[in-house]
Amino acid sequence: MVIVMKQSTTEKQIEVVIKKLVSQGFDVHRSTGVEHTILGAVGAQVVDTRDYELLDGVKEVHRITEPYKLASRAFRPEGSIIEIDGVKIGGEEVIIMAGPCTVESYEQCDIIAERIKAAGAKIMRGGAFKPRTSPYSFQGLGVEGLKLIRKAADKHGLLVISEIMESGQLPLAEDYIDIMQVGTRNMQNYGLLRDVGRTDTPVLLKRGMSATLSDLLLAAEYIMSAGNHRVILCERGIRTFEMHTRSTLDISAIPVIHQLSHLPIIVDPSHAVGIRDKVAPLARAAVAAGADGLLIEAHHDPDNALCDGAQSLKLEQFDKLMEELRLIAGAVGRSIAEASVRVAG
Ligand code: PEP
Ligand code: MN
Repeated sequence: MVIVMKQSTTEKQIEVVIKKLVSQGFDVHRSTGVEHTILGAVGAQVVDTRDYELLDGVKEVHRITEPYKLASRAFRPEGSIIEIDGVKIGGEEVIIMAGPCTVESYEQCDIIAERIKAAGAKIMRGGAFKPRTSPYSFQGLGVEGLKLIRKAADKHGLLVISEIMESGQLPLAEDYIDIMQVGTRNMQNYGLLRDVGRTDTPVLLKRGMSATLSDLLLAAEYIMSAGNHRVILCERGIRTFEMHTRSTLDISAIPVIHQLSHLPIIVDPSHAVGIRDKVAPLARAAVAAGADGLLIEAHHDPDNALCDGAQSLKLEQFDKLMEELRLIAGAVGRSIAEASVRVAG
């Protein structure tokens, strides 16, 4: 149930409503929007909504019929903007996150960070803990990798997104990571979801490769119901019968998630298609369809990358794509940060 308080409501009136909800066994999540305070009441109880409509200061009461409550659009109809050090995800600006699949060395991070920053990216990606399909593949540099990406990102004024695979890695986030990524393979690792939900660090939750959008939103609900409401969703392609691409990018997920949920949704075209020269068309389509951001693999020497080189853009391809994305964003009422140096060609 969602209770929208009137603009003129007093703190005392809000407290009365919260007290009543708690006495009826609800968990209450308070959210202060631009205009209204909204109380999300989560619980199995069926109550007469009129009991709340009659309370002083209450504007309206809605039942949320979806199984996800805190993630549903009704909980925050105006949409959520997740702000991290001045970078706003879910607002008018389309936020670009880019970088290598995996951290390999400081020099690698430094070269890539400089270029993506100049092209207009705001956030650097790079895995230190890698969820590899084979246990014999490179598993990432671990904490050392986090230190390297942090240092390069700080030098060039970028935020860091990196994957957390186990709850034991969570304390590292505080020192090195601005956005914790929960990967496709862990989308239904409910223990991990609850544990990231107990932190204050924003979370990028990737759609499981066989997950429905309801599954994705219920996974977000695990994180939010544990207290952390700063969740960004990510469509990264799903498993279908199509074999020409690594996964199938579900473009329709973007407008459907925007309808169902107030959470921002970004797109990872790199893992979706898995082929370098197909990444740009999908990235352009995602921005045209309303994505709030993109997560793109880019590498200064992709042919020799330790992981996912075949789907990583060369840096000059990334520069060119950013120019194209800027035009598309403008055409759909959005924007992308300007490049700080003029890109040749
Ligand atoms: C990644 O982004 O590094 C990654 C492993 O992606 P996914 O979880 O989507 O496979
Ligand atoms: Mn990768």
